[in-house]
Amino acid sequence: MRPRTDEWLALARSVKGFMPDDEGLALYQAGLVAARALTPTRPLLEVGTYCGKSAVYLGAAAEESGTVLFSVDHHRGSEENQAGWEHHDPAVVDRASGRMDTLPWARRTLERAALEESVVLVVGPSPVVAAQWSTPLALLFIDGGHGGEVAWADYRGWAPKVAPGGLLAIHDVFPDPADGGRPPYELFCEAVASGHFQDIPELSCGSLRVVRRSSEPPDATEAPGADWGPQASSA
Ligand code: SAH
Ligand code: MG
Repeated sequence: MRPRTDEWLALARSVKGFMPDDEGLALYQAGLVAARALTPTRPLLEVGTYCGKSAVYLGAAAEESGTVLFSVDHHRGSEENQAGWEHHDPAVVDRASGRMDTLPWARRTLERAALEESVVLVVGPSPVVAAQWSTPLALLFIDGGHGGEVAWADYRGWAPKVAPGGLLAIHDVFPDPADGGRPPYELFCEAVASGHFQDIPELSCGSLRVVRRSSEPPDATEAPGADWGPQASSA
């Protein structure tokens, strides 16, 4: 039998990963709001699966809303997940190759959550997938690599795919540099400054910030970033 919502949320709490429970609940709520805002219902998509923690929060929202979540990751870890870095976990290293491989962990999480019908794992580099993607999204969650090059590539590649009226959620947005790295905050600022998105503070929580795609394209003469982000990397 399929777990109920509270069982999904309890499972999400127990999964290895980088998503505090209050922010995960906000993500779940944003998924519900986004899926229900659009007719026809569109899929949700996240960049940065890791071991499937946020995928359970968003997958629960997708399944309850009759849509699906695509979760994109090459499963080789971000820079900060590699050996010697702050967020390294030796348990997710493939002993045969010595490289990180979180795919088996993510599959196990989705199996335990009974979400294999509603969460589709897409394994590969995010910009390569984005370049081939044409389905409008009800919600995009950016939580992949946090370096400047990688984060901007995610924004430029994926943000235009959010359907008008759909939501963009960005994780690890820290206005104060003392709290964390700059790129996710810069993406959030760019999204709002571009005129493509409006800040939705009531759906945000902690470092999870949520913005809504405008229904009308911005006036390019008034919004300098209306071309989907600075061309030069801010790395
Ligand atoms: N959302 C997860 C945490 C994601 S950590 C949770 O809830 O726990 C960031 C993930 O982004 C890592 O698993 C890493 O492999 C992935 N990643 C980083 N850069 C990537 C890229 N360019 N393409 C695909 N995946 C990437
Ligand atoms: Mg994160």
